[in-house]
Amino acid sequence: MHPMVIVGSGMAGYTLARELRKRDAAVPLLVLTADNGDVYSKPMLSTALAQGQTPERLVQMTAAQLQAQLGISVRTMTRVESIDATAHTLYAGGELIAWSRLVLALGANPVDPHLAGDAADTVFSVNNLADYARFRAALPSGGRVVILGGGLIGCEFANDLAAAGHAVELVHPREWLLERLLPEQAGRAVQAALGGLGVQSHLGRKATAVQRADHGVTVVLDDGRRLQADIVLSAIGLRPATALAQQAGLAVLRGIVVDRWLRSSAADIYAIGDCAEVDGYVLPYVQPLLAQARALAAILCGGDAPLAYPVMPVVVKTPACPVVSLAAADGRALDWQVEQAEDGLRARQIDATGQMAGFVLTGAATRERQQFAAQLRPLLAPAS
Ligand SMILES: Cc1cc2nc3c(=O)[nH]c(=O)nc-3n(C[C@H](O)[C@H](O)[C@H](O)COP(=O)(O)OP(=O)(O)OC[C@H]3O[C@@H](n4cnc5c(N)ncnc54)[C@H](O)[C@@H]3O)c2cc1C
Repeated sequence: MHPMVIVGSGMAGYTLARELRKRDAAVPLLVLTADNGDVYSKPMLSTALAQGQTPERLVQMTAAQLQAQLGISVRTMTRVESIDATAHTLYAGGELIAWSRLVLALGANPVDPHLAGDAADTVFSVNNLADYARFRAALPSGGRVVILGGGLIGCEFANDLAAAGHAVELVHPREWLLERLLPEQAGRAVQAALGGLGVQSHLGRKATAVQRADHGVTVVLDDGRRLQADIVLSAIGLRPATALAQQAGLAVLRGIVVDRWLRSSAADIYAIGDCAEVDGYVLPYVQPLLAQARALAAILCGGDAPLAYPVMPVVVKTPACPVVSLAAADGRALDWQVEQAEDGLRARQIDATGQMAGFVLTGAATRERQQFAAQLRPLLAPAS
């Protein structure tokens, strides 16, 4: 019998392996991964420094340990190069491998900042533990860091690096930080709190070039301003990894298109995690992928219940200004009603019918997240 193959050893791939093992102790399971397969929690990468965590200490388990614990096979440093959806085979590490069912848990790739200049190739992005280890090795103690991108990852790194004694400048092309998740007042509150740690924000600006300088590098902005830095971190966004699926002829839009049973357009091929567009939604966060992995494990073991999501607020890990956000995920540009109080901000997104469609809380008001979440309907309700 050919194994069930999972491609990817991130939280999506490994959670699925665990969930499958809970349900079926015998089915042959093979995980193929382009990295070293260490088990770690990716969200900890943007809070590790101030907590005194080294990259090594973030490893919860090696691939070999997980393999032994679950009774599965994990092949590390093995990139899947192509998939034959009809023949039920794939090509990886110079070998043709047959699969019974195939799950793509390929994650997302950092967006290229397209920088000119002779130091453009020194710019870091952090999307896995190996990236993070390289970044930390290059980060001078108390050094100057320019971060490109003031979204979730950029703001979290700004907070972490500044709290750990680095001089941080944050370059963001929009009018306020975290504009995809927050109304303007909340974005300004985060900016002010980061400012309190010494983070200088350059809003409405993009970096165009990174050049070598006598000490470190110079980051050139699109208004001609020049920022001096020891190290540059790009956090301008992630795009679902779709190339492999596209090459195999699977339907791809923003992510690999799957339905509420996590089925792609090809028989016996499924997708979960950051690479997947599930019922029209790309939700690159932990809670959605956990729900997907659990639902898919049940489906692969013969269940027929479609994926359901709970209400899933996103916690922005900026301790200088705690934030919880649940902006309407369907991209509707809804108005925010914002209440500013001593203990933080409470913002509600109201839809055309007068219903609350999303909310944002900052500061001590984040303690009310459960009361706010209870007023919302989940994005994908359980089948009745
Ligand atoms: C710094 C940071 C902080 C974050 N903080 C939060 C947070 O606080 N809360 C939250 O909800 N979310 C957070 N996220 C997002 C969350 O971490 C991701 O949604 C989640 O980790 C994605 O898991 P994944 O398994 O889908 O992808 P990944 O972890 O990216 O795993 C993809 C896997 O696929 C493998 N792969 C890719 N292509 C191939 C190939 N061709 N062949 C073989 N293997 C391949 C890779 O090697 C890797 O093992 C954060 C993300 C970052 C970067």
